[in-house]
Amino acid sequence: MVHFVGAGPGAPDLITQRGAALLRAADVVIYAGSLVNPALLGLCRQDCSVYNSAQMTLEQVLEVVRAAHAENRDIVRLHTGDPCLYGAIREQMDALDALGIPYDDTPGVSSFCGAAAAACAEYTLPGVSQTVIITRMAGRTPVPEREGIAALAAHGATMVVFLSAGMLDGLQAALLRGAYTPDTPAALVYKATWPEEKVVRCRLGALAQAGRENNISKTALVLVGDFLAPDYERSKLYDPFFATEFREAKP
Ligand code: SAH
Repeated sequence: MVHFVGAGPGAPDLITQRGAALLRAADVVIYAGSLVNPALLGLCRQDCSVYNSAQMTLEQVLEVVRAAHAENRDIVRLHTGDPCLYGAIREQMDALDALGIPYDDTPGVSSFCGAAAAACAEYTLPGVSQTVIITRMAGRTPVPEREGIAALAAHGATMVVFLSAGMLDGLQAALLRGAYTPDTPAALVYKATWPEEKVVRCRLGALAQAGRENNISKTALVLVGDFLAPDYERSKLYDPFFATEFREAKP
């Protein structure tokens, strides 16, 4: 069978225990070589066949899977972060359904969580934003028109922009057409949780410049929103005057 596994954002100890166990047991591993930390392959058995999908088409991946499945071998398809975001897993799952090959999916720590951790930030601050918009700029892969950056930026919510570090000028301009201002805080998080991790904080008006100054044009997330500013309200949950199911309120 095929196990889709989230590798986590980079640091090899950020894979889940379940994901690590599947890697240790695998006969065949097909990993997304552009972003999965190769250190994770150290978990694989000596006799495990390892393929880097960065050099493969969907058809080639499926051919490896089909041949391995025919020999009753266990396959791990290792994707960066969590497979559910920009992982192209749906097309693989649909093809596996057509081939009658069973599969399951083990989640991973997405890079948007790794980036928040790198910045020691909370995306959902009371009084600031209770919504996280995860999106990308249209590139060679188009984005539905109603999901353009400027339209999403109209909410002024917390935004995490994937796959767009190479288009920072356009991204900055589009974000500024929404509810943000040149003063809205932003951050570029490069290779979150890798040894070469970099967190560059700036104002939205200087985002593209910050990218140029720090040589960041790929493998980065753009974080935007007032969650990066100093002001917010205290949580109700831990307010002594607020009762919850588990705790009485102070009179
Ligand atoms: N499924 C992955 C995303 C794959 S798309 C996940 O859940 O994270 C690839 C994009 O993710 C990159 O272009 C970059 O924008 C982002 N990315 C992946 N790993 C990253 C990391 N460690 N630090 C910052 N951004 C990362």
